[in-house]
Amino acid sequence: MPDQIKRTVVVTGGSRGIGRAICLVFANPDTRIFFNYSRSEEDARQTEEVVSQAGGYASGLQIDVSSLTDVARFFKTILDETGRVDILVNNAGIARDALIVRMSEADWDAVLNTNLKGTFNCTKLAAKAMLKQRYGRIINITSVVGVSGNPGQANYVASKAGIIGLTKSVARELATRNITVNAVAPGYIETEMTNKLSDKAKSEMVGLVPAGRAGKPSEVADVVEFLASEKASYITGQVIHVSGGMYI
Ligand code: NDP
Repeated sequence: MPDQIKRTVVVTGGSRGIGRAICLVFANPDTRIFFNYSRSEEDARQTEEVVSQAGGYASGLQIDVSSLTDVARFFKTILDETGRVDILVNNAGIARDALIVRMSEADWDAVLNTNLKGTFNCTKLAAKAMLKQRYGRIINITSVVGVSGNPGQANYVASKAGIIGLTKSVARELATRNITVNAVAPGYIETEMTNKLSDKAKSEMVGLVPAGRAGKPSEVADVVEFLASEKASYITGQVIHVSGGMYI
């Protein structure tokens, strides 16, 4: 690890997709990146590799965001090594789609526990360190459907709407300590999560996008980078849509 580390960035779900693109925008010799993942060991090593090739330094740990015990262990590792948490990006998320009458309790719980409780767990631990530093940036990845609703996604939409409420409340709690808390709401972005959709569903999704195309993970990551920068120091409690106009 380089000696001149000036800031610590934490990204949840950094092994692939949008999370990997977010790790990449922070690839810089003065930045230490920690990310986590739940299963995809090989992908995690790949994220470490691409960040390293871009001149940065990232470590991926297998940590389930839905477990407060796991998350506490994650932040202990980070604080033991660098003593600070400057930027937290709550990106880890899953979808288990079904119509409400067919949705199982297990699918409801899995999605709420990963997406919403995971965001709570990491925010709680990061905020403790940020309050001591009197500095921090928290960026939560929600979704356009967290604002618009979507049939067949009651669990996912509830978790993403919950993230928006959490963002606004914590923004109000932490604003005087120089800590901003914002949410980014992607629309249809090409990742493994959306690759699972049928071709018909994909073209229907594109049909809902005024820009006429799916977004790239890097287009979400660029907005995260801006919100984490000094240029965004007076923005807090906001939801920034990155959707090609899917929600206006
Ligand atoms: P992917 O499915 O490609 O990646 C999800 C990431 O989250 C993986 O790194 C995965 O790790 C990790 N993860 C899942 N569960 C856990 C867990 N319990 N603990 C720790 N890490 C976990 O998703 P995307 O990149 O597409 O999505 C990233 C975020 O953006 C999500 O919150 C998603 O809801 C949101 N989003 C995505 C959109 C899209 O169109 N793609 C649109 C709107 C929002 P592992 O590989 O080990 O499972």
